[in-house]
Amino acid sequence: MHGQRFPFEFCDDCGAPLYPNTEGETVHAELPEQSNAPSQTLH
Ligand SMILES: [Zn+2]
Repeated sequence: MHGQRFPFEFCDDCGAPLYPNTEGETVHAELPEQSNAPSQTLH
């Protein structure tokens, strides 16, 4: 069916949908998450 705009996985930390990047790794659809960065995302 649909193959490209479908969430690949879901973040185990915040539950946000993760999409495969150009390297084939699952990343956040908006901003890459840093463990030490203060979370300014609107969940
Ligand atoms: Zn996350």
